Amino acid sequence: MNTAGNVENHKIAFFSTQPYDKVFFNKYNTDFKFNLDFYETQLNPQTVVLIENASIVCVFVNDIVNEQVIKQLADKNIKIIALRCAGFNNVDLEAAKKYGIKVCRVPAYSPQAVAEHAMAMILTLNRKTHKAYNRVREQNFSLNGLLGFDLFGKTVGIIGTGNIGKAFAKIALGFGCKVLAYDIVQNEEMRHDGVSFVGLEEIFKSSDIISLHCPLNDQTKHVINKTSISFMKDNVMIINTSRGGLIETSSVIEGLKEGKIAYLGIDVYEQEEKLFFRDLSADIIQDDNIQRLMSFPNVLVTAHQAFFTNEALTQIALVTFNNIKSLLIENDIENKAALLV
Ligand code: NAD
Repeated sequence: MNTAGNVENHKIAFFSTQPYDKVFFNKYNTDFKFNLDFYETQLNPQTVVLIENASIVCVFVNDIVNEQVIKQLADKNIKIIALRCAGFNNVDLEAAKKYGIKVCRVPAYSPQAVAEHAMAMILTLNRKTHKAYNRVREQNFSLNGLLGFDLFGKTVGIIGTGNIGKAFAKIALGFGCKVLAYDIVQNEEMRHDGVSFVGLEEIFKSSDIISLHCPLNDQTKHVINKTSISFMKDNVMIINTSRGGLIETSSVIEGLKEGKIAYLGIDVYEQEEKLFFRDLSADIIQDDNIQRLMSFPNVLVTAHQAFFTNEALTQIALVTFNNIKSLLIENDIENKAALLV
């Protein structure tokens, strides 16, 4: 790798780019002077061929970075896969290691952005401000159907108390909620703040609201399933701003139809890859599960926008460029959480 301390003109091929990616990455590139190639398309086995003379690819949540793609990247002399997100479930890290490609990510660009969006979903579902907004615009000032509940005193169960789960716990405590948490690693500071660490089953049994903040992996896949839903309180609210695969969609649809789940807020969806980040308003959507979910009056879907704040996009651009620079110059990154391979 380049050890000259100069990263100018190294070419980065960006995949799945949106207009706002170009704005933020171009803005913060003035200090780095990388050569940036932006592709709107997803990275997948068919699109690797687009890469021309780049040594780095920059990918997002729904790019496909499996062994087949990684082998093709290695053939194209790609040295670094830079994720411009925190989650990395879409990258085959073993394959990257095998082909000698470094993988980095942005571990914590704005935990508050995601935590605040989770709370926004709770407040919207509960107080139905989205319905009130439309209703008064049609001069309908009736309150019928808008009844909510006090958040104060309710039990909120958090699964995963890393950067985002911790930020979300503080918000929930601020609302006067009782906060239960489950994580494979317990956090002393949170316990001190008033959070009770309990087993997963206790989260399901005791929570009025369950919010998911753990990564998607073999242990957490479909953590919300038919059995876990059967343990839950009647009228439970489930919020997922983490990864779609944490929820078994068919079971949640059943839970909603039976009335067991009274509110569902999802910013992520297991099959979002074919839907999110695009305007499909003129298309016939073939995914019957998302159509069914969107037909419930007590389901709120946002299209993976929890991270989408000015502060987060600034951090994403700066940390991504600094990760790449460190790897090019030092072959290492000081923040160990940012370096995956
Ligand atoms: P983090 O690494 O700081 O925290 C993850 C926590 O989950 C850790 O405390 C870890 O111990 C815990 N965990 C791991 N395995 C677990 C298990 N089996 N059961 C329970 N807990 C477990 O990550 P973070 O920054 O807090 O992000 C959490 C997730 O949020 C990411 O993995 C990502 O998928 C998602 N995310 C979504 C958005 C969005 O825009 N919707 C944005 C950023 C991150």
